[in-house]
Amino acid sequence: MQPVEQSLSGWGRFPRARCSLYRPERISEVPQIIGFGRNEKYIARGYGRSYGDASLNHDNGVVLMERMDRFLSFDPDTGILRCEAGVQLAEIIKYFLPQGWFLPVTPGTKFCSIGACVACDVHGKNHHKDGSLGNFVEEIRLFTPSGEVVRGSRKENVDLFLATIGGMGLTGIILEVTFRLRPVKSAYISVDYIRTKDLDETLASFEELDSQYTYSVGWLDCLARGPSFGRGLLMFGNHAEPGELSPLRTKKARLVTVPFDFPPGILNKYSLQIFNLLYYNMQKPRKKTLVDYDKFFYPLDKVLQWNRIYGKKGFLQYQCVVPRKSSVDALTRILEAIKKSGIFPFLAVLKRMGSSSGGILSFPMPGYTLALDFPFKNNVLDLLTTLDEIVLGVRGRVYLAKDARLSPESFKLMYPNLDRWQKIKAGVDPQDVFVSDLAKRVGL
Ligand SMILES: Cc1cc2nc3c(=O)[nH]c(=O)nc-3n(C[C@H](O)[C@H](O)[C@H](O)COP(=O)(O)OP(=O)(O)OC[C@H]3O[C@@H](n4cnc5c(N)ncnc54)[C@H](O)[C@@H]3O)c2cc1C
Repeated sequence: MQPVEQSLSGWGRFPRARCSLYRPERISEVPQIIGFGRNEKYIARGYGRSYGDASLNHDNGVVLMERMDRFLSFDPDTGILRCEAGVQLAEIIKYFLPQGWFLPVTPGTKFCSIGACVACDVHGKNHHKDGSLGNFVEEIRLFTPSGEVVRGSRKENVDLFLATIGGMGLTGIILEVTFRLRPVKSAYISVDYIRTKDLDETLASFEELDSQYTYSVGWLDCLARGPSFGRGLLMFGNHAEPGELSPLRTKKARLVTVPFDFPPGILNKYSLQIFNLLYYNMQKPRKKTLVDYDKFFYPLDKVLQWNRIYGKKGFLQYQCVVPRKSSVDALTRILEAIKKSGIFPFLAVLKRMGSSSGGILSFPMPGYTLALDFPFKNNVLDLLTTLDEIVLGVRGRVYLAKDARLSPESFKLMYPNLDRWQKIKAGVDPQDVFVSDLAKRVGL
């Protein structure tokens, strides 16, 4: 199969890399692409919704999974779905929600593939309750660098399975995923909105309330100063019950598209201040508001190509997790460092995390995760290095699926199971056939 040469990026549009794209129509074509002895390296790519360079491979092969998108089997008694890895989450919801099933864990966009979600071991607003997607995966079929297709589960090829959950595509190509869906009675979420006055109240509200809810998430006002420092708007939700307005279908959301790259400078301190003030004050504290799943889980998906508002240079998302016991100290220092730098994030989202899925390179740990979107400016990289130091100081870590700039030294310190993962990688891929720009950058 002949590749197409193309310049690619992740969702943050930084960095870009010229790659050779292969687009197999079916699983049986994958072995013909991974040409042994061709001296080319490969990485799988879903829909490019990771932010940085995880699915880029400069001057090497990128295998697009989008055509391998068939449902293979479904058991309506157990909710176990087997599908090809390129299936988009949006398709799973479209077919299975009307039958009373929803994703067990979902990231903040539905435009990504199930295979990539396993490779990133994605988490959602229910991590404090249910953990990450890896907890729901029964089995994967993996195309390994030797050309063999192997099954992995918590019973079979366990090490390889746990190195692949959160392994960022570096153990091979996930061809199929078998996982458990969640039974639901409604397409709506019953949401309580809470406004907090400062960081202490924000964290205290999570601690006090989130055991009562399947989902919790907070938006932080990073520009608030003085006594309002760390204030936010928290959303706590449960799947609605019958009688609470419970159809399994919702009205089709109207989508808008950002038609061009915004000019530089539109997102500045003053426009952000206005946005934050309006957002904080317009959302009134409310109880038991019924919100359809699209609005609750995927508010950004309504605006197609919203990454263009950051302009041609793109943007960086910094997502870290800090252990629970150091969270007040670490989050205060992170917000202080942002304030001092004068570079403000457009979005700041806080979630509580529970236990890890066992994925050897998985990101989550018990504590708090903060995700910050920064427009790309030269000195933003210095700020993010400062944030790394704060995160390292409390033994936290940065999420690889969002990263575009972490150093190999910081990465090693943040991921203490790296040695174990590298032994498994060396066993399955001694020639380093599967490589990405992320892997080269951080030394995976
Ligand atoms: C608006 C938005 C919100 C998000 N919210 C969250 C969130 O709440 N939680 C969260 O965890 N993430 C979140 N993400 C990140 C995103 O959901 C994940 O990175 C997801 O895995 C991207 O899917 P993709 O198909 O676009 O994969 P890509 O970006 O194309 O690839 C991501 C990684 O998966 C690997 N991969 C892809 N397919 C395969 C395969 N078949 N076999 C092996 N490896 C593969 C790639 O090599 C790469 O390392 C968010 C992203 C966006 C844009």
